[in-house]
Amino acid sequence: MPELPEVQAHAERLAEQFAGRVLRRFVPFNFTVLKTAVPPPDAAYGWPLVDVGRRGKYLLVRFEPVTFVIHLMQGGRLLVDDKQSAKPRNGRGRFVFDDGPALLLTEAGTERRAGVWCVANASGRTPLDAPPLDRLGPDALTLTAAELGARFAATNMRIHGFLRDQHQIAGLGRMLANEVCHRAQVSPFAMTGKLGGAGAAAINSAIHAAVDDGLAYERTRSDMSSSADRPGRVHGRVGATCEVCGDTIRSVTYSGYTVAYCPTCQTGGKVLADNTTSKFLK
Ligand SMILES: [Zn+2]
Repeated sequence: MPELPEVQAHAERLAEQFAGRVLRRFVPFNFTVLKTAVPPPDAAYGWPLVDVGRRGKYLLVRFEPVTFVIHLMQGGRLLVDDKQSAKPRNGRGRFVFDDGPALLLTEAGTERRAGVWCVANASGRTPLDAPPLDRLGPDALTLTAAELGARFAATNMRIHGFLRDQHQIAGLGRMLANEVCHRAQVSPFAMTGKLGGAGAAAINSAIHAAVDDGLAYERTRSDMSSSADRPGRVHGRVGATCEVCGDTIRSVTYSGYTVAYCPTCQTGGKVLADNTTSKFLK
C-alpha cells in the first residue's frame, strides 16, 4: 500500500503537472467509487485545479469550491491518462480536464476499496473535520515526541500495530512500521505503555528518518513505487544481513503481511516464533 512518502511525492508530481487545469467532469466507472452524494462533483466543474496535497495516506485534489479526497488503498493508482479510452483497464473513475491528459483512478484486483470523497471546502481550504479525514490522528510528520509519548501512555498496544493505526498517527503502513521499529531499536511487539518518554523520542526520530529516506527515494521517480521497489533496512530483506549489526533479518508472518525485524538490534537477540501464539508475544 502506498504510504506517506509515496502519496506525498505523487501529490507533488500531480500538482506540478495539473495545477491550473480546468476540470470538465468527473466520470465514475462504477457505483461504489464515489463515496459521497453531497456536494456533487459538478461543484468543481469549470474550476482550475488549485493544488494536490496529502493528509495521512489520502491524496487531496483541491479546487476552490471542493476537494476530491482520494484513498488508493492497496492496489489503487491515480495515473496520468493520455488515451482516455472508453473502458480503461481497472478503471474506477476519471477526472477530465478542458485540455490535455485526464487523471485516471485505477485499482488492480477485485477488492474495489479505493474511493473518492467530494467534500465542500471552507474558505477554499479542505476541511479536516469531515469524513473521511476526521478519523485520522495527527500526521506522522507533524507529531512531536511529547505528543507521541502522551498517545503511548493513553494506549497500550503493540508498537507495530500502533504505528499502522491511522486513528493514532496518520501516514504510516506496514513497511514504515517495520523500518521505524528497526531504526529505533525497538521490538515491533513492545507495548506502547512501557516505552516511556525515551521510547517516544526514539520512535519519533525514527519516523522522521524513515519518512525522509522514503521521500528522497520516491522523489527520484516519475511514478509511484510498488512495495517491492522501496529500499528498506528490514522491509523486503528477510534472510538478508542487517546493515547495522550483521545479524540475519527475521520475520513473523500474519495473514496478509509480514513483520520484519533484526533480533540483535530489536529483541535482545531473541528470535520470535513465526506465529501469533508464541508465549514470547503474550
Ligand atoms: Zn541489526
